[in-house]
Amino acid sequence: MPYKKLFYFLNLHKWTFITGTVFVILANFASSYTNKLVEKFINAVVKMIQAPNPGTVNIHQEVFIFLGSYIGLTLLSALFTFLMRQTIIVASRKIEQKLKDDLYAHIQRLTITHFKKFPIGDYMSRMAEDVGKIREIFGPAVMYLVNMVTTLSVSIFFMLEISPELTFYAILPLPFLSFFIYFFNIYSLQFNKKLQEEMSAMTSVAQESYNGIRIIKSFTLENKVFQTFSLISDSFKIQSLKIVKLDSFFMPIVSLLMGASILLSIYKGGMLVIDDKIQIGGLTSFIMFVNRLLWPVMSIGWVASLFQKGKSAFIRYEEIMGLPIETAQKKIETANVKLTGDIQFQNVSYTYEDTGIQALHNISFHIKPGERWLIIGKTGSGKSTLAELLIRFYQNYQGSILLDGRPLESYGNSFIREQISYIPQDVFLFSDTVKNNIGFNTAATSDEEIINSAKDAQIHKEIIQFKESYQTMVGERGITLSGGQKQRISIARAMIKPSPIYLFDDCLSALDVKTEKQLIEAMNQRDSKSTIILITHRIFNQLNFHKVLVLHDGKVAEIGSHEDLMNRKGYYYDIYKKQEMKGVEL
Ligand code: ADP
Ligand code: MG
Repeated sequence: MPYKKLFYFLNLHKWTFITGTVFVILANFASSYTNKLVEKFINAVVKMIQAPNPGTVNIHQEVFIFLGSYIGLTLLSALFTFLMRQTIIVASRKIEQKLKDDLYAHIQRLTITHFKKFPIGDYMSRMAEDVGKIREIFGPAVMYLVNMVTTLSVSIFFMLEISPELTFYAILPLPFLSFFIYFFNIYSLQFNKKLQEEMSAMTSVAQESYNGIRIIKSFTLENKVFQTFSLISDSFKIQSLKIVKLDSFFMPIVSLLMGASILLSIYKGGMLVIDDKIQIGGLTSFIMFVNRLLWPVMSIGWVASLFQKGKSAFIRYEEIMGLPIETAQKKIETANVKLTGDIQFQNVSYTYEDTGIQALHNISFHIKPGERWLIIGKTGSGKSTLAELLIRFYQNYQGSILLDGRPLESYGNSFIREQISYIPQDVFLFSDTVKNNIGFNTAATSDEEIINSAKDAQIHKEIIQFKESYQTMVGERGITLSGGQKQRISIARAMIKPSPIYLFDDCLSALDVKTEKQLIEAMNQRDSKSTIILITHRIFNQLNFHKVLVLHDGKVAEIGSHEDLMNRKGYYYDIYKKQEMKGVEL
């Protein structure tokens, strides 16, 4: 039950909420009491007028006392209202921050498999909109609920004091009003939700057609696209008009029922005054109290809808918080351990849970420290899956993977990721300077190291051509880099930190053969003791790879040196010949 968990957050700021509630009650009493002042004043004036010699009575003093107390109480009520907001709303903002921080930290620590469960936009909207709606439970909803309850009870308390009979008549129409507002809110919510859907359909059509403007123009689809848009915008209009119609019922009906309440009070109250059961001042303040009831009764539906929206937002929030995270297991002491770079796969198979695709079948191989391996295979042959298993993005594989003779599971995830310099297939650069993009994962990186690393990655010459050299911004708010430039910057990033294992997943695909050769040579010289695994779909000759592993449909097709495989005349040989025919320099 989500509400139970919500109490946990309420409890975090228990005393703030309690203080806030006290302020709400005080504010209410202060402003309600102004009505009582009016009652007393009127009664006093009536009494003076009815005195034997009304002309001689000095009314000034009464007026001053009345005005002074009225202004005093109003100021007091304003002060309490201010304090009420300062406590309850401030606490709700604090809760909001905690909700956001918790969510963000949780998303960061999700396993890759679970991270992919929701589209990115979903995480964004949960972070922004849903958390905001949950906050409204703790902020406005709690505040108005307390306010509503106290206004109702304080007003009714004073009304009963004036006349229980009259109170009965005055609140007679109120249940009808509440019912009306409740149902009005249900429809209004439904209509607005529908409108929201129409709206997002409309924006996505617009967005898509702006993005695809080149296709639309070249296929002269303008009219067709416009018709689609116009259909959606028409149903948006129909929906909007429905809401206008619904809204136009609201005020007249509320006024009618409230008017009925006041009418009954005046009629019944007038009779009571005539019968001398209540005084004229009492009737006046009674009507003022009836007026005060209007607002809480009207906001019942609204507060209920805040709770409703907050509840469904919280369910969506919990959906993510319930996803499993990577456990921070630390199996063996790795404080001063450095891997030698020995990697062994023994009968490793892996099936993606969500799609049921078996990406790897019985993979076995052994890479000795300091060896350079080439893993080659067509798209979809399982190369990236293999790399991602090694850095523990996925856990539930069959068989065993050993690092320096120990199962992968015996190390902590972060240890493995520190020891392996990995470049994913889809390179990613942050919206930051070139320098920070290269140096971000090592704390104290000197400019010299960054430049050397960029030189080895064969990107230095291009960086110094940029307007602001290493300080140039890249990413969304910076210059647009070519695919090859991005790849080389991310290679420089991976090379800057000496590691026992380098794992490059297809990150040379956008480079020309010459640059590629220079880069691999530089890499060989830089870290001659490290193990290097280069995943690719292209063959590199002359570059002294110890072994080549050919993957085909998730199985090991061939393992051997370049010469071995050329002699076997199998997959490797075929790829080699095809490349040769295309004129790719080998
Ligand atoms: P390669 O890197 O050789 O192109 P991959 O390892 O990316 O191959 O993919 C191997 C197989 O696994 C493919 O059939 C692909 O569709 C599937 N696959 C890859 N990534 C995922 C994923 N995240 N979820 C489900 N299936 C995947
Ligand atoms: Mg791949």
